[in-house]
Formats: sequence, C-alpha cells, structure tokens
Amino acid sequence: MMTANELRQKYLDFFKSKGHAIIPSASLIPDNDPTVLFTTAGMHPLVPYLMGEKHPLGKRLANSQKSIRTGDIDDVGDNRHLTFFEMLGNWSLGDYFKKEAIEWSFEFLTGKEWLGMDPQRLYVTVFMGDENCPQDQESIDVWKKCFNEVDMKAEVCPFGERISGNKDYRIFPLPAKDNWWGPAGETGPCGPCTEMFYDTEPQKGALEKTFDEEIDSFRVMEVWNDVFMEFNKNAAGQFEKLPAQNVDTGMGLERTVSVLAGKKNAFDNELFSPLFVKIGELSGKKYGDSEEIDKNMRIVADHIKAATFILGDEKAITPSNVGQGYVLRRLIRRAVRYGKQLGINKIFTFLVAEEVVKIYADIYPELKKNKEFITSQLIKEEEKFSETLERGLKLIDKLIKNINVDEPEAGWRQELEDEGFYGIDSSEIKGKWFFNFYQTYGFPFEMLVEELNNRGISFDAKQIETIKKDFQEEQEKHQELSRTASAGMFKGGLADASEETIKYHTAAHLMLAALRQVFGEHVAQKGSNITPERLRFDFSHSEKMTPEQVKRVEDIVNEQIQKDLPVVCEEMGLDEAKAAGAMGVFESKYGEKVKVYSIGGDPSTSSGPPFSREICGGPHAERTGVLGKFKIQKEESSSSGIRRIKAILE
Ligand code: ATP
Ligand code: MG
Repeated sequence: MMTANELRQKYLDFFKSKGHAIIPSASLIPDNDPTVLFTTAGMHPLVPYLMGEKHPLGKRLANSQKSIRTGDIDDVGDNRHLTFFEMLGNWSLGDYFKKEAIEWSFEFLTGKEWLGMDPQRLYVTVFMGDENCPQDQESIDVWKKCFNEVDMKAEVCPFGERISGNKDYRIFPLPAKDNWWGPAGETGPCGPCTEMFYDTEPQKGALEKTFDEEIDSFRVMEVWNDVFMEFNKNAAGQFEKLPAQNVDTGMGLERTVSVLAGKKNAFDNELFSPLFVKIGELSGKKYGDSEEIDKNMRIVADHIKAATFILGDEKAITPSNVGQGYVLRRLIRRAVRYGKQLGINKIFTFLVAEEVVKIYADIYPELKKNKEFITSQLIKEEEKFSETLERGLKLIDKLIKNINVDEPEAGWRQELEDEGFYGIDSSEIKGKWFFNFYQTYGFPFEMLVEELNNRGISFDAKQIETIKKDFQEEQEKHQELSRTASAGMFKGGLADASEETIKYHTAAHLMLAALRQVFGEHVAQKGSNITPERLRFDFSHSEKMTPEQVKRVEDIVNEQIQKDLPVVCEEMGLDEAKAAGAMGVFESKYGEKVKVYSIGGDPSTSSGPPFSREICGGPHAERTGVLGKFKIQKEESSSSGIRRIKAILE
C-alpha cells in the first residue's frame, strides 16, 4: 500500500523525470492578493507567471502546495472535502500543452512503477462546447489514444445519457460550469479542463446512472484536474487563441492516497488516523462507531488540522475578528463545539494539534518550529471561547429570569442590550434571541438548550417548539444574506475581478492614501474585502473617526477621482519598491519582481511623488475618473486598535 509521503514523492519524481523543476510550497497566506484570504490551489501563487512573467526556474514546474478552501467548510464531513489539503501540481508556462499533459496524467495514474491504477476504474470528463467555444476534441482524441494503448475502447458518452452498464463509455463531455476555467476577471486567460475520476466501488460492476449522478452518489471520486489555458477572452467578449498556452494541473493528495488504498473517503488514511485515535482517547468514542460520531470526528480533525497549519505558517496569523484571523477563530471554535458534542469536556485542541505536527514534521518543518506558538494560541482561544460562552449563558439566564416576572431586576434590559441583545420587547421568549446568541457565540440551538439545562434553566416542550421555529426562520433569513455577502470573501481563487471590483480595488488605494493624509503615517491597511457592491477596509488607528474626518477623507478621495489620474503599474525589485516609498508587504520569492501601482504623478519623470503608491497584484482601473463618487457608509471598530470602513462608489 502506498503512503501519502510515498505518493507525494512519486509525483515529484515523475515530473522531475519529465523535465520539471520542483518548487517549494508557498505560504498558506497569499502574499499580495486582496481578493482571497488563503492559498486555494497550487496555481494561485503562480498567477504572475501564468500571466506571462518569466519564472526563474523555467517553463516546467511542479510542487506540492498547502491549500485551504473555506468555501468547502460546510461540506467537511462528506467524503471528499477537506478544509486543509495538499495539492500536487504540474505546470507548463507556454511550453507543453494538452497532449503531453494528458499523456503524463495517464502514465502517472496507471503506470506500474507509478500509481498503478487499474485503467478500468478511471473515467474522464472534458469540455462539451457551447456558444463560445467548440467541444474540446483534442483532449478527447488524446484520452482515446491513451485508453486504446492499454487495449480499452474509450467511447464518448453523450451529455446527460445514462451509462446503463456500457463499459466502453470512458469520456464524459460536461458543460462550462464543470469543465471550463476562468477568466479570473471579465477578460483574460481561460480555457477547458479535463478531470479524472476513480471508481471507488468496482465490485458493483459497470456504472449505471448518468455521470453526474455517479459523482453525487460518491461512487466516482475526482482526483485530478488538468486545466488548459488556451484562450484569451477579450473586451468584446470573444475568445482568441493565446500565443503562449499554459497548463495548470491539481491532484488532491488525500483523496488519491485514500482511493489507492481502496477507501471511499478522503479522511481514511494515515494523514488523519492518528487524529481520530487522539480524539477517541479524549472523548471515549471510537471512529467507526456510528455515522454521526464519524462525521463529528472528521470535522474536529479537519478544523484542528487547518488551524494548526494556519498558526504554523510563517505569517503568524492569530485568532481575531478580521480576515484570516476570523477564519482561524471560526475553525477553532467549530472544532471545540463538535468536540463537546462528542463528549470532550476539557481544553483539548492543542492535544490534537500535537498529532498534526507529528504527522507532517518532516514535510512541513515550519509546524515543528512554531509548535509552541500553535499550542499557546489554541489554548488561549479555547479559554477565550469558554469565557465568552459563560458570559453569554449568563445573559440568557438573565433574560429568562426577568422576562416573565412581575418584579424584574432593575436595568436588566439595558444590560442585555449593552451586550447586543436588542429588541427585547415582549414577554415571550423568542427564537430570535437564541439566534442572536448563536451568531455571537457560535452555539447551535440544541447545544445551547443543553448548556442551559446543565445550568438549571429548562423549557417545556411547547416552549422549545416555538423557540426552535423562530430560530430556524431567523437562520434562513440570515443565510440568504450571508450567502450573498460572503460569496466574494470565501469563494477564493481570484473569483471576482469584475469591472466593479476592480474599481473598488483602486478606491481602496486612494482611501488608504487619504487616511494617511488625515491621520498620519501610523495608518496601515489591516485587511480588506471587496465585492462588486462595496468595499470593506480595516486599518490601524485607535480612535473613532469624527464626522468631519469622514468628510475630509471622502473629499480627498473624490478630488483624486475628479482629477482623472492615471493608474500606472511598474514591475521592480522589492528593495527598489521600498525605496520608492511603496506601501504594502511582500516577501520576495525566487528573487521575483513585485508590481507597484502608482496613482497620479508620472513615476518615470520627476513630476512630484504620486498620490498613492502600493505594492499590489492588481488589477486596477486605468484612470481614477471611472470610479464615480466615493462615499463612506459606516465607520466602526473592528478589533482593538483597528477601525473598519465600509464604503461605496455611487
Ligand atoms: P470538487 O468538484 O470535488 O469540489 P474541485 O473541482 O473544486 O473539486 P479543483 O479545483 O479541480 O477541485 O482542485 C483540483 C483537485 O484538488 C481536485 O481534483 C481534488 O482532488 C482536490 N481538491 C479540491 N478541493 C478539495 C477539498 N476541499 N478537499 C480535498 N481535496 C480537494
Ligand atoms: Mg476539479
């Protein structure tokens, strides 16, 4: 049986033998990309090179990249989605294309000296074509040839058709939503992809349903995706062939090692089993005992692993209420909650984290190096969570003691409102407040009721029923809202660089410069989140802004917009950028150049310093004139020493 370490090494050896340079995993925290919080795929740190910049190590690269996908967080516990996973990837930067990429994928998957998968268990999808681009016939032809060479027929199954036991159906054309990548923004590189699936239940015989249904029923598991950046989508919406075409592939390490061992689940491998043993010791339950226990254990293991890798990253993120720190907090608290559900009643996440560090000690030495930091932060956050929770439960206690009685305690309403429990306007206990509590403290309804019971506060069945109904209504309302709001934030992968978001990026640069004019040099950007509708921006400053200060910042920004200043991008070395007074942080890797965006002032002449100059990956508006009118909608505290602005362009 192949271990994860062997698989990782084989992958790198294979692509080395095909002339690829092996590059290290980049940090989990993207260097200079305001559109996403975490590195979501191997291609992500390579974007500048996929866009045409020369990579110092050549045109063929491969690596194993630490990745985090928070968009998949609610899927964790199904059989294939992890928050943290490793992506094995190989890239062609304007070098080889479909033929080699597919042939090598096939060779690596099925070759006896490599993974040795039975080709009878392998199925592939390709792009079926639409009004913009035709079906990816070239990929189909290469796949056919690969299968034919091992004496298999490989027929194309028409889209949506039931397979009905036809063993010759190997190639499944699917629409753009499944098999088309990009462009990241409105325009740019994009192209078809081809995905490889492995049959996890060959004993059932040939596939029966449609291919989509076989994916949904978890019978076939996607293990690898080859993306072909073949076209450029231009401003007129046309797809032009790119002169230099790139390949970007990604194989999930955990999924692949599991299916190779005959398992159906990305969790059932040695990258997780020591964690389940530890969680079992702590909870007195056993992985495998029941579906519910397994699911809870997977969530606990997954979240603590992801938290350990975030804390172990060179960037030293700590739990907080913004950006990456917020995701980290959410992961830790969610793990604690599910741990409680399993019956763990002490501070425990650091004990599971110790096992994570052991599993990865040789591959990711940063975990070992930062072990003390990981442990202390986990303990601190867990303690903080239980304190907050205690405080919250006292509030609920207060609410219940006072709401229905003739002589309530003085000032109890105010006290609750001070803690964010608004709208206590009737004599009934409402699910809305429980939802409010859940929002603030992260405790789901059932667990909250249980915690209250433990403290001697109980409800009768009828009360529970009405509270629960209210609670669910509130939750649905909120989910609708947050789905829209977080689409930009958690989707990841340069998802949204539409024209509007580009304008907001540029507005953020203007605003930072304006804030520094008004408040001084201590102001630095502490996070930002941009959707096509608005800009949210955190910066270091400790006092609330007065209405006059808000107005001044708005005026300064609008003045720059009215001047219709040019936005100029230059590439330079990091030292050069710093010397030029550019704002921003950037760790230089492989001595690459950074992009510096200047607004106003011509950097090539001596027409005075620009209004703003920042190291940034872009993209940006070409001139400030297109931004419209800048307006600050809200200014509030984000966390200690950090203010948050919400602004719009009208
Ligand atoms: P899926 O459709 O199964 O969610 P995907 O198409 O979003 O996966 P890609 O973006 O193509 O995934 O990523 C390339 C590979 O990385 C996938 O083929 C899979 O093996 C792996 N992968 C992607 N997301 C996850 C995840 N959340 N957990 C584990 N492995 C993953
Ligand atoms: Mg995929």
